[in-house]
Amino acid sequence: MTDATLVLNAGSSSLKFAMFERRHGLPLLVKGSISSLHDKPRLKVSTAHDEPRTEMTLGKGSIDSQATLEFILRDIGERGLPQKITNVGHRIVHGGSRFTAPAILDRSTLKALDQLVPLAPIHQSRNLEIVELVAGVLPEAVQVGCFDTAFHADRPHVAMLYGLPRALTESGVISFGFHGISYGYVASKLKARYGSNAGGRATVAHLGSGASLCAMREGKSLATTMGFSPLDGLVMSTRCGSLDPGVVIHLLRDRKMSVEGLSKLLYDQSGLLGVSGISGDMRTLLETDDPAATEAIDLFVYRAGREIGSLAAAAGGLDTLVFTAGIGENSPFIREKICQAAGWLGVQVDPERNRRSEACISVSGSAVDVLVIPTDEERAVAEQMLSIIPIADNHSG
Ligand code: ADP
Repeated sequence: MTDATLVLNAGSSSLKFAMFERRHGLPLLVKGSISSLHDKPRLKVSTAHDEPRTEMTLGKGSIDSQATLEFILRDIGERGLPQKITNVGHRIVHGGSRFTAPAILDRSTLKALDQLVPLAPIHQSRNLEIVELVAGVLPEAVQVGCFDTAFHADRPHVAMLYGLPRALTESGVISFGFHGISYGYVASKLKARYGSNAGGRATVAHLGSGASLCAMREGKSLATTMGFSPLDGLVMSTRCGSLDPGVVIHLLRDRKMSVEGLSKLLYDQSGLLGVSGISGDMRTLLETDDPAATEAIDLFVYRAGREIGSLAAAAGGLDTLVFTAGIGENSPFIREKICQAAGWLGVQVDPERNRRSEACISVSGSAVDVLVIPTDEERAVAEQMLSIIPIADNHSG
């Protein structure tokens, strides 16, 4: 049996996974996801070859992390692959100031990561719960964490500061930034396209259920819209994005909201869902002509357009604009609207190229290259893991 790496990417409402052969080029063996974990979960699995795909609903209610993992491991097991899972990589949302590179998930690391749960309550606790479950079912596998915050750790110091008293900054109340595994992957694709300049002053729009923007120069993070927590910045599926802190004080003091209630409001009941009152799913909103859905979409686009301007200011200009993740990769309509909002920066989209979701969707000769780059966080995790558990020479063929 040869070795394989399993990557688990736990989001707020889905668990994506991929399994790679541990040899040069990391050939993909299987990939899939369990989505809609809280309501009629669906398992989807496909392989790199022409083997049977799995697509099934897993009951009517919600499923917990243990059942999710069992379904995935059962599906992989039933495929009779000649590879054994010897290591498991995890996308971990928060590495704090300490974890700026992939780390083996031993007891002391897990304890340190557990202390970051309050900073990303939806994701971090699920991430760590899944690590524990994997330790139970695959006790011999080495587990490695790759951190969404790490890509942003080298930003200029001023980009990480809030206008708060120094003592708070020194105690860790700073902007961390997220979606870094996706941004790192996109940066590697920009380097493959443009060489070491990686598209110069590039702004990448990761528009999924969670959404953020990152301004890069030569493939390195300069500024990003998420901050201390994944709540900041753009309007998201169920998260509010940037909010005047005065609103938080008002809700706590004058409306007597509990801290728990407030957290639920800002993380789970706001964003596209809160504004539309219909859904946090962009596809669903685009399919209805309800004015509240239109307003939610308009707000999403308005805030993305505004933030592109802000990031262009941080980078001193814009040479390349990249769309990625569920909405960014799949919605020509939203891309077009956001590009219109960024037209003053020289962004000009070719409607046909955009409709076909081509790799480059800007008009020929445009001042700004506009690209669609599908992200692949699972492969990015598997690649990052090689820095601490390299492939043995006898597996390099
Ligand atoms: P996450 O990984 O954060 O759960 P994804 O990157 O899978 O999120 O993105 C999910 C979002 O992408 C949802 O809002 C979904 O509606 C949206 N999406 C997917 N396909 C399309 C499409 N064809 N048109 C518009 N939105 C889409």
